[in-house]
Amino acid sequence: MPEFKTSPGTRDILAPHSARWRAFQDVFASTVESAGYSYIIPPMFEDLDVFLRLGEATEVVTKEMYDFHDKGGRHVALRPEQTASVCRAFVEHRPTTPWKVWYAGPNFRYEKPQQGRYRQFDQVGIEALGADDPLLDAEVIALAAKFYADLGLRKVHLSINTLGDAGDREKYSQALSQYFMANEKDLTTESRATLARNPLRVLDSKREPDQKVIAGAPAIREFISDVSNQHFDAVLQALDALNISYEINNRLVRGLDYYRRTTFEFTSIALEAAHTAIGGGGRYDGLVEALGGPATPGIGFALGLDRTLLACDAEKVFDAPATAVQVFVVDTVDGMHAHAVCHELRSNGLSADRAYDLRSMKAQMKSADRSGATLALIIGSDEVENSTIMLRPMGSGDQYLIARKDLVAEVKKALNPK
Ligand code: AMP
Repeated sequence: MPEFKTSPGTRDILAPHSARWRAFQDVFASTVESAGYSYIIPPMFEDLDVFLRLGEATEVVTKEMYDFHDKGGRHVALRPEQTASVCRAFVEHRPTTPWKVWYAGPNFRYEKPQQGRYRQFDQVGIEALGADDPLLDAEVIALAAKFYADLGLRKVHLSINTLGDAGDREKYSQALSQYFMANEKDLTTESRATLARNPLRVLDSKREPDQKVIAGAPAIREFISDVSNQHFDAVLQALDALNISYEINNRLVRGLDYYRRTTFEFTSIALEAAHTAIGGGGRYDGLVEALGGPATPGIGFALGLDRTLLACDAEKVFDAPATAVQVFVVDTVDGMHAHAVCHELRSNGLSADRAYDLRSMKAQMKSADRSGATLALIIGSDEVENSTIMLRPMGSGDQYLIARKDLVAEVKKALNPK
């Protein structure tokens, strides 16, 4: 047993999975950059207060934060998500609006680790600040749907709801509170505690006894103002115009206190119940203001990389890309020839690897096999004497001599036979 292992809820991502992670982020970048979103890299920790503005009823903030005092006495926290950081950056830099950005990277939440739930987990996401247009809501949702499709996923389900504006939410919250209080004895202990903090969040509970009570709860649509309803209808029409299918789910409230109006969640029907949520988002008009900025509408989403890849596994799509080098150089003379040949190939845009420590021809050929390279170049004393190199397309049983001076041209020819 090694003395040190990764901390619970964290993992080393090794090849070939690491290449898949990077490819995932590349696909995301091209999907959202094609819609005018620019890349933002917020810091991984911020003043604790930045995240506290997400709201006291947000579990991510109250229960799961990695916060500590640094050596300068500042109370900081590792980011549990990135929307708060993006809004803080907006207030700090005051970019022109609409400000459309995307991000990728790890977040930290002190949760109970299990498959699809980690303490350090990666998300990709976008945020668009400064426009209230329902067509922007639809664009944001359409981009998430397009990204899933770009990965090859087909079994992704979109649920959507509106939470109305602050006033509507308040009225609904009161009605819910009354209803849940009247039925408190049938709720689980956890939900009773949630009820005291934020009755809306009781709707999030997936626990069986709570589900029964939730089924009879008042629906938000009855409390939504005309303006909010019109906004929602416009979003739905815009989704219809793009043939994006969705299900309206009146019980969908999601985590943040600052969510307003449009809220949505993507689930994978290829995954088991425990980790079906692969992404979600919504409008959070009010968050920028809470962080000390001017009243500014905002909308965005965050998608869980880990869980989306689990969905890819379940649908058998988006395999890890091949990362093998093109050429493996075997040198049985002194290693210096492989040294120079690798350098020349790499300098000409080709990928090459080699063996070290002057191992036997057999051992070096084994490494060549294991490397997955397309070609092996073999250099022995005869080749050195005649200024040649033996070129062997791997797995073909074939080989031929090339002139040392024609190295790059011959390798390119062998890699791309016409
Ligand atoms: P949230 O920021 O809570 O709205 O989560 C957005 C998405 O991030 C979820 O749908 C999950 O796919 C993913 N996610 C959230 N928490 C975790 C976690 N602890 N481990 C892995 N993925 C997570």
